[in-house]
Amino acid sequence: MTQTDVVIVGGGLVGLATAMHLQEMQPRLKISLCEKDDHVAAQQSGHNSGVLHAGIYYQPGSLKARLCVEGKQALIAFCERHAIAVIRCGKIIVANTEAECNQLELLLDRGTENGVADLAILSQQELRQVEPHVRGLKALHSPHSAIVDYRLVAQALAKDFQAAGGKVCLQTEFVSAGPPNGRRRVVTTSEEFDTRLIINCAGLQADFVAQSMGTDPGLRIIPFRGEFLGLDPARSHLVKGLIYPVPNPDLPFLGVHITTMVNGSIEVGPNAILATRREGYQLKDFSLKEFANTLSYPGFWRLVARNFAPGVAEINRTLRKSVFVENARQLVPEIAAGDLTPLRAGVRAMAVDRGGNLIDDFRIEEAPGAIHVLNAPSPAATSSLMIGKFIAGKAELRINAD
Ligand SMILES: Cc1cc2nc3c(=O)[nH]c(=O)nc-3n(C[C@H](O)[C@H](O)[C@H](O)COP(=O)(O)OP(=O)(O)OC[C@H]3O[C@@H](n4cnc5c(N)ncnc54)[C@H](O)[C@@H]3O)c2cc1C
Repeated sequence: MTQTDVVIVGGGLVGLATAMHLQEMQPRLKISLCEKDDHVAAQQSGHNSGVLHAGIYYQPGSLKARLCVEGKQALIAFCERHAIAVIRCGKIIVANTEAECNQLELLLDRGTENGVADLAILSQQELRQVEPHVRGLKALHSPHSAIVDYRLVAQALAKDFQAAGGKVCLQTEFVSAGPPNGRRRVVTTSEEFDTRLIINCAGLQADFVAQSMGTDPGLRIIPFRGEFLGLDPARSHLVKGLIYPVPNPDLPFLGVHITTMVNGSIEVGPNAILATRREGYQLKDFSLKEFANTLSYPGFWRLVARNFAPGVAEINRTLRKSVFVENARQLVPEIAAGDLTPLRAGVRAMAVDRGGNLIDDFRIEEAPGAIHVLNAPSPAATSSLMIGKFIAGKAELRINAD
């Protein structure tokens, strides 16, 4: 039995940032981070779009708005210290109808209220100067949006955590925890821990992990796979930075967008389709147990009923590449079907309550002997350093109060 003060479950960006901050704040604490896979950032953190979001979309006053704007600055400084490339390629959100132009004004106000600097609405002519191949009536320009390789960020966080005295245990899956009577026994697939506090940062598995600690999370993680198509490198001159549509205000996704990656490649996506397995990156990946878990949740059916039309549109987009291509062509008309090939997928953890409501804001809940990160969707990669600092602050108070 390993004696420790804190066990962190999950070696994604949120778990790693929490571990690093807590270890640096409290060097004497013994902290073990357990990751079930054989490397860090193996799930959402290593399969995302690589965007440092500026903070435009989020409800003013929400945790997302605050931690994204602060988190982006903190992440840029962190990357500078670790010689990780951050490319400030800028982003445009393109409006093609009058209604979308009105939406842009709302996004401008919202972003400005959130503290995002230098946002501007571009006319058609100004848009052509920023992105010559994009078609649109108007666009919202966010010059400071940037891109990064989040896998490198995760590796650097793990290194800093270990340098400060922390222990990263790979291939160590959390299985169960004893009752929170002062100290807690934690059983994993490779060792047992005796600890004061558990921090659950298990991403796609966060609800299962909370349940196995005896906490009712009050929500269910519904996995949504997002597929990306790659743009033929010979056509990369068509795209300069990040090109997004105006999002559907009723949905939590930003819409199929065009993303430049730090290696210079260009990706189109992601769509958003229900995954039958939480870590199912291929269309054929299927888990009867996990799919039954989704289908047996009343909140899932209420979510389906409420979003039937967009759900059908997403299925259509998944099954018919032509629809996906059409989405890209609405932004950059010169993209042809032959320019795009299937590339990769990521799976997003979307938290849904029993009423079928998608939980929008980050959700971090305290329970006896534990802190649970129950909802950390996009922009949690951008915000990861500040989410980690926020959780580490809560953990420090709990430990000092013991
Ligand atoms: C397709 C896609 C595109 C995205 N694009 C962006 C973007 O451009 N910008 C942005 O800011 N955000 C983006 N996001 C969101 C962002 O990537 C996630 O919000 C963020 O990575 C969440 O980090 P996490 O640490 O909470 O979860 P994860 O990265 O999923 O980490 C959880 C970890 O817990 C481990 N784990 C689970 N169960 C156990 C267990 N029982 N025992 C031990 N370990 C366990 C998992 O293996 C995993 O490594 C995107 C997400 C996706 C999927």
